[in-house]
Amino acid sequence: MTLEWEKLFAGRVSGMSASEIRELLKLIDRPEIISFAGGIPDADHFPSAAIARAYEKVFQSNTGAGGALQYTISEGYTPLRDWLCGYMDRKGVKIAPDEVLITSGSQQALDFLGKLLIGPGDLVAVTKPTYLGALQAFSPYEPTYVSIAMDEEGPVLADLEAALARKPKFLYLVPDFQNPNGTTVSPARREAIVDLCTKAGVPVIEDAAYAELRYEGDFLPSLAAIDAARNGGVPSQVIHCGSFSKTMVPALRVGWVSGPKDVIQRLVLMKQAADLHTSTINQIVLHDVVSEIFDSHVKRLRTVYKERRDTMLAALEEFMPAGVTWTKPQGGMFVWIELPEGLCGTELLARAIKESNVAFVPGAAFFPDRSGRNTIRLSFSATKPERIREGIRRLADLLVRVSA
Ligand code: PMP
Repeated sequence: MTLEWEKLFAGRVSGMSASEIRELLKLIDRPEIISFAGGIPDADHFPSAAIARAYEKVFQSNTGAGGALQYTISEGYTPLRDWLCGYMDRKGVKIAPDEVLITSGSQQALDFLGKLLIGPGDLVAVTKPTYLGALQAFSPYEPTYVSIAMDEEGPVLADLEAALARKPKFLYLVPDFQNPNGTTVSPARREAIVDLCTKAGVPVIEDAAYAELRYEGDFLPSLAAIDAARNGGVPSQVIHCGSFSKTMVPALRVGWVSGPKDVIQRLVLMKQAADLHTSTINQIVLHDVVSEIFDSHVKRLRTVYKERRDTMLAALEEFMPAGVTWTKPQGGMFVWIELPEGLCGTELLARAIKESNVAFVPGAAFFPDRSGRNTIRLSFSATKPERIREGIRRLADLLVRVSA
């Protein structure tokens, strides 16, 4: 007799299912497909030589690689946490090394924060759209979502106020070049969000995964920095998640979470329970690499990705039929398209793969309430400019056919 596994799974996993989109996207690994689906950095611009040198250094050190291959403390490699304290300080947030935890990518920090803060039925405030991976991280802890509409300056304040009045456990936000819609929260809106959340006693989880990838305009203070400025330089209301995946490489799996000590201490216990610590050798290598080339490498990435963003925006302008609108991100990896009412992003993807050899991600997945049917996300970061132009041309041709 075969075991009926479905009956044994805990109730909280019922919402975790492979999506139809994932099935469609399995089809895009063919060279003729121009994919805007990924949302990943370009591997051709990874700092591979610096990483190789850092690994060699570890193995050639006087003490041998023993320490680097050993278990380490759950909090994270101390020199890397010290480096992050300096980095955050430059951004206006004073944290001590025990107010930052190194995680296996910032994705793990989102999971831990869900585990720490969400009980079944608790309310969690998110924007619509929001980062799909955050929904995937939070949902197993069985929250109910209250979703806040966005305009070009970020979350709509009337919606935020209404959400806060319902006392959610926290607000989750990606203030810079949001995945998926590329929106950046304006300076005034940032102040207002910290104000309103402080008054309501609701913490903010700030996901700064893309904050370094700005291609125009001034860098804006993080919500953590605004919060800290009101609190003698130290964080009080805002928990800040950061990642080296977009600035360095994703595969080392190094991210961090910083915030009030009480929160970090609990998260350290979760880290212990989950995987003891992030890879020792990867933290050592990453620390070596960021100490050496962080600023210069990020500067180079900004030039590369800016050209791609510009190419995509110019091609959209040139080829898209009337009725299609899109965001103009100041940084990050994403342009968000709104299709004419009545069109469906998922249906369009199926046709785009089959008829046009183009791929993207339908927008509905990024809405906790599954609205946003007529939206799609395009990523420009991992596609060369010539291919971007051709891909947008093909997509526009398809849209002309579909709308006819
Ligand atoms: N937050 C956002 C907004 C992201 O887009 C991503 C990666 N797609 C992550 C967090 C997780 O990144 P990582 O775990 O690689 O740090």
